[in-house]
Amino acid sequence: MKKFLWLFVLLGAFGYAGCDTHARKLIRVYSQLKACRNNQIIWKDGARMVYDDGKRESEEKILKHADIEDMFTYSYTKESYAHPKHDPGRYRNERFFRHMYGDSASAVRRHLMTIDWFGRKVRVTTVNNVHRHLLAVERDLNRLLKRHPEYRKYLVPIGGTFKWRTIAGTKRLSVHSFGAAIDINVKYSAYWRWSKGMKYQNKIPFPIVKAFEKHGFIWGGKWRHFDTMHFEYRPEML
Ligand SMILES: [Zn+2]
Repeated sequence: MKKFLWLFVLLGAFGYAGCDTHARKLIRVYSQLKACRNNQIIWKDGARMVYDDGKRESEEKILKHADIEDMFTYSYTKESYAHPKHDPGRYRNERFFRHMYGDSASAVRRHLMTIDWFGRKVRVTTVNNVHRHLLAVERDLNRLLKRHPEYRKYLVPIGGTFKWRTIAGTKRLSVHSFGAAIDINVKYSAYWRWSKGMKYQNKIPFPIVKAFEKHGFIWGGKWRHFDTMHFEYRPEML
């Protein structure tokens, strides 16, 4: 260990301590962030947040108290989803997202915009241009529907976008609270809480998932705790 000490001192001096490739990805994809230095995420508004609290905890505990670094515990892959073993993207540092999108329902509402989703009005946040990204998803899906009109039923009527609420059975805020998530048609969806023994199921065609991922949204169908109607804007995972 001792022979590496100089390296840590050197990295510390340059401000790289604790700031790994994932931290750099965050800075790249979220324009509100300025830098990561000395294990701190520095926001353009001057806020600072510890990146890695150094704690290594059980899955259950991380879910409740994820630091920013914990969000990357499992990598989200764009490939297969036959049997998800983990929950990539399901660990979230709530403080981070509250600071980004709004700390209360009214604060989030100030950034919402109504957009058209297959002829219906939905409200999403303009922070991080989520509204534009979702419109881009709709554009791609419209192209897909020309080849596969049978896919429309999965997309409308939608389950919902903005709603300030906690995740069922928890005290943690859902990403729907920030106007940065969308549930497609509930009717064709599978949710781990509805299934006996958490047996993985999915009916959503993969080309739909790909259209969302292309524009920065991850899919709840890639979680062991699956939620196949759910997409949320998490470009840092992609
Ligand atoms: Zn959802």
